[in-house]
Amino acid sequence: MSIKRLSIYLAVFFFATISATSAFAERTPWGYGPSDGPKKWGSLTEKFSLCKDGKIQSPININTERVKELKLKELDFDYKSSSAVRMINTGHTVKIVHDEPSLLKYADGSGESDLFQFHFHSPSEHTVDGRRYDMEMHLIHKNKAGNISIVGVFIREGEYNPEFDLMWDFLPKEIGDEDIFRSYNPVNLLPENKEYYKYTGSITTPPCIENVAWFILKEPIELSAEQIETFRAVHDHNVRPLQPLNNRTVRSTGIFIDDEDIDGSGNAQVDDPFEDTFDENFENTFEDDLIEDDSFEDTLEDTQDYE
Ligand SMILES: [Zn+2]
Repeated sequence: MSIKRLSIYLAVFFFATISATSAFAERTPWGYGPSDGPKKWGSLTEKFSLCKDGKIQSPININTERVKELKLKELDFDYKSSSAVRMINTGHTVKIVHDEPSLLKYADGSGESDLFQFHFHSPSEHTVDGRRYDMEMHLIHKNKAGNISIVGVFIREGEYNPEFDLMWDFLPKEIGDEDIFRSYNPVNLLPENKEYYKYTGSITTPPCIENVAWFILKEPIELSAEQIETFRAVHDHNVRPLQPLNNRTVRSTGIFIDDEDIDGSGNAQVDDPFEDTFDENFENTFEDDLIEDDSFEDTLEDTQDYE
């Protein structure tokens, strides 16, 4: 390879800006404005009907006085560095596509789910006791059966955070723009304390698919005021309003289980009838959909672009 060719290759590799507009051509447009915003999502197309008819939607307010403190298992973020990370301005957020196998699982090894993208909202979508944070990061995982788990990380204004430099220096500013940057491990973005709230909800953008397992980390991370502004100059107010909790329970870590609490199957022996009922229903619903509903695959495909 000639020097000239190598330098072109490197330039493309590190700073490529590729128009990806064509990828959006066949989708139903939606946004956060008065004509295409959250109140209209459910009516834009039949495919988005869950946005108005769903009963377990996200985001929600977490009322810490009403959470159930249970023996939830500790999370293990077994994330790996990705050698070439794609970062895309989707028009609704900036999404980082993570292609290296990076697993979210419980500390006992169960519940394995693979990270495929993460992105940001400003301000936060979830609130805690009515408090809204400056931003929220969503890390989207999918397990082998196709079930979605999302880790939500609150961001508040505070110390300058050097871990964001690599992304923030190259944020794609125009809709459809795509940048690529080098080796990166998103585990460095997480707070030290991994205690969490857990509930069942939906993705917070169309098509608002439900049965998403949400893990909201309690400890926020910090970005400086300037770093928050850097993101807001590209996207701001990309937030869905709070959704009704309905019959759901938000659970909380606080007591991590001991080894003797785990039976042979790796499942925690938790005295919680709600959890048993829910897990059974969830599996049945999912399998029925897979076998009998051809449209489900399309819907699942859409979640690849979840923002
Ligand atoms: Zn999100």
